[in-house]
Amino acid sequence: MASSALKTSWADDVDELETPKTPKGEDYTDENGIRTTVEYTINDDGKKVKITRKTKRTLQKAIVDHSVAERQTWAKFGQERGNKAGPDRATTTVGENVSLKLSAGNKSTEPEPSAEQAVKATLARAGAGKVICRLCKGDHFTAKCPYKDSLPGLEGTDTPIGVDEAAGMPTESAAPASTGGKYVPPSMRGGRGPGESMSRPGGNRDDLPTLRVTNISEDVQENDLRELFGGFGRVARVYVGRDRETGAGKGFAFVSFEEKANAQKAMEKMHGRGYDNLILNIQWSRKVLVTGANGYIAFWVVKDLLEAGYEVRGTVRSQSKAKYIQDYFKSYGDKLEIVVVDDITKPGAFDEYVKDVVAIEHTASPFHLNIDDPNEVIGPAVAGTTGVLESAVKYGPNVKRIVVTSSTGAVLEVFDHPKTFNENDWNNQAIQIVETKGRAADAISKYRASKTLAEKAAWKVAEANKGKVGWELVTIAPPFVYGPPIQETNDSDPQSLNTSVRDWFNIVLLGTKDSQFVANNGSAWVDVRDVAKAHVLALSTEKAGGERIIVSTGVWKWQDWINIARKLTTEVPPGAADTYDAAKTVYALDYEQTKQKAIFGINLIEKEETVRDMLKVFEAKGWWPKKN
Ligand code: NAP
Repeated sequence: MASSALKTSWADDVDELETPKTPKGEDYTDENGIRTTVEYTINDDGKKVKITRKTKRTLQKAIVDHSVAERQTWAKFGQERGNKAGPDRATTTVGENVSLKLSAGNKSTEPEPSAEQAVKATLARAGAGKVICRLCKGDHFTAKCPYKDSLPGLEGTDTPIGVDEAAGMPTESAAPASTGGKYVPPSMRGGRGPGESMSRPGGNRDDLPTLRVTNISEDVQENDLRELFGGFGRVARVYVGRDRETGAGKGFAFVSFEEKANAQKAMEKMHGRGYDNLILNIQWSRKVLVTGANGYIAFWVVKDLLEAGYEVRGTVRSQSKAKYIQDYFKSYGDKLEIVVVDDITKPGAFDEYVKDVVAIEHTASPFHLNIDDPNEVIGPAVAGTTGVLESAVKYGPNVKRIVVTSSTGAVLEVFDHPKTFNENDWNNQAIQIVETKGRAADAISKYRASKTLAEKAAWKVAEANKGKVGWELVTIAPPFVYGPPIQETNDSDPQSLNTSVRDWFNIVLLGTKDSQFVANNGSAWVDVRDVAKAHVLALSTEKAGGERIIVSTGVWKWQDWINIARKLTTEVPPGAADTYDAAKTVYALDYEQTKQKAIFGINLIEKEETVRDMLKVFEAKGWWPKKN
């Protein structure tokens, strides 16, 4: 027996423990190279057993990879340190190389079917067709449904082609019987012939009954929803709203069915259900008509509506104005439709476009101060507003809200003392000025008169049709609107900006007015993004119905804007920077925000953010910093 001092291998320890009290064995090799080993051992029954092993060693040479050969020469380490290179037969068994042959379709290599697969196969052999989950309609048993915790009890849903596993019987619509189990392309299913449209017979795909699904996680893909809603009937298309830049899901989707009854059932069953840890919110898709969609404010309204999951039909005055907005929102696919209404004053101009919408945002109206005849602005402002409302009265059975973009120009009157206005105030003064002076009236009075008359006309139509129509009017009255312009502009010319932002650019950044002017002139303002927010909230906020709402952040003098801009960029002319004291200046007018806060509660954007974000746009367009 080897002493511990002589141990060369951990295997010696095992020998020490297990050597039985039996006769000594034998070990010899004969002239043919055959080695015989004889061992005696005690078996489990306590009997002595003799074990004889004969082995013959043959040296086989094999070509191995260089790295393998080299590895065999490595010095040993740990408890094996100092032993000779290569495997020690006492501790290592060197077997033959077994090469693995991968073969396709060899039955013997196929994995054993799972219990579920075996049952499915048995059902199939019995002619029972496909197993379909009662919850999500997937190809598995209901008990194994990955959604079983989130989609309990959808027993009332239509059973699609196949078998209801509970009954184990083919349903009436079981297709395999008629097709011999062969694959049937979607276009040929349901009795359709090749080449026939997949959309409803004679139907326009825009008319498909569509559900708007919100509160979905950003990971949800088109196919997930197709699978989820496919159980209620044929899904014609699925659209998941995604961020323009990042492509990340925006938490809403549209699911269009071929049949309205199926869409209705899907909504009833799925609304309020858990899916992917969120509670689904499902409603009929809501299309909103936005007039003058290419304008400064309207562009943001369209953006917010699309992001909120609405579909939008926008009107523009000519085809040439459609391309930019279509390109800008192309990630929304057919959720944005642009139509041309070349003359909003024509009776019936909007008739066609109100038929399938649930709301209208009427923003189209002239806002510029290059006016000779007051009717240049009053005509389109009034006729455009009454026109779209009358169209909704006659042809808009589904319209629930009409939002008219008014203005604080329809609220304020000019006094020789400061005044804070509210929604009860009306600018009759501007109308009187225009009536008295005609073309000789100042341009701002002409514009303000157009806004007052248009808003009054809107309330008149709403009042005349109260109780006869399904919609309520909301008017939103912003003061001067500033903030990042995202609408189309001529990028070589900042003068192509809309009136309010262009004036801001000229007076604040280009210094087109003297220090006297910028220190003494001002008004109230609101960021364009807050105006858009108010327009979208006006559709969904119950208590906004029938209300006139002023959305205003606060007061300003031109020098206030200049001072902020000068903090952000050094190239702004100083204006009255040396003499102006904001604490001592008198602001001529302001607007109460009690109603806005109570109805919308918008956390309004402050001046610094508005200036910073406008400068970013000007910089991106190469308009700022000013080039000398
Ligand atoms: P904007 O960029 O000039 O947009 C005006 C929109 O109305 C454009 O789509 C324009 O179409 C359309 N429009 C103008 N005149 C028209 C006419 N005669 N017939 C048909 N469409 C006409 O102006 P905005 O600043 O966004 O103004 C939108 C609305 O907000 C207006 O009702 C305005 O009174 C009101 N508002 C604006 C401010 C402000 O400071 N910006 C403040 C209070 C209220 P084209 O592009 O084809 O001209």
